[in-house]
Amino acid sequence: MAEQAVILSFYRIMKQLFLVVFSCFLLLSCQTSKHSGIIAHRGYWNTEGSHENSLSSLKNAMALGVYGSECDVRQTKDGVLVLFHNSRLDDGRAVAELNFEQLTDYRLPNGEAVPTFDEILRLMQSAPKGFKLIIEVKEADVRKIVEAVERFGLQKSVEYIAFGRNHCLDLIALDKDLKVSYLAANEKNAWSPKELKDKGFYGLDYSASLLRARPEWVKEAHKLGLDVNVWTVNKSEDIEFFYKLGVDKVTTDIPAVYKRK
Ligand code: MG
Repeated sequence: MAEQAVILSFYRIMKQLFLVVFSCFLLLSCQTSKHSGIIAHRGYWNTEGSHENSLSSLKNAMALGVYGSECDVRQTKDGVLVLFHNSRLDDGRAVAELNFEQLTDYRLPNGEAVPTFDEILRLMQSAPKGFKLIIEVKEADVRKIVEAVERFGLQKSVEYIAFGRNHCLDLIALDKDLKVSYLAANEKNAWSPKELKDKGFYGLDYSASLLRARPEWVKEAHKLGLDVNVWTVNKSEDIEFFYKLGVDKVTTDIPAVYKRK
């Protein structure tokens, strides 16, 4: 009888253990599918009190549970890396012609200062596990960017993108293991998946209109082991269209709205 009781309680424990493991699995799979592959374009800025390419927009993106956040990196005249999309501030001054000191009086529309790349990397050190910073190189020394990433020990948490072919090729020449994807808006400027593979790229990061014109590139890229990202897709039905096409990542201004079906 005692033996039977032991077997019975062992069976109950195993059953409970199985239920706990199974529930955790379900919870995890729900969480990863909800926003999987979503990249917040210039951070999650499309919300009260934030602005694109700011510390708050990165913080917001980190809290969302998305794949990662994109950002734009430029360099001041005296070589400080900062986040800003346009070549000129709203007051007309060119970022590349200002010393960093001259930039410190400038405020983004939400009142934040233009963040330095170092401040962004410091914040990234507290990012959730697996969260990625997608660094778009605008006008900046790629070596400086890579050195900063290394200084903060974030090599595994970043990916690089650029429209500038030389920026991309310089990054690959610096370290062939860097994840570098090429940005293109139209066929005229695009490299085919085969060309990208031959040049050592990690992936392609093409506009929605370009991938709609060349949908076969998604499969071709995957056959070659390349990653496929599409930008900037701001309607849920369009995001769904690109996931059905098979893209790996979607860059969007509505990272909080989209829920993967
Ligand atoms: Mg960008």
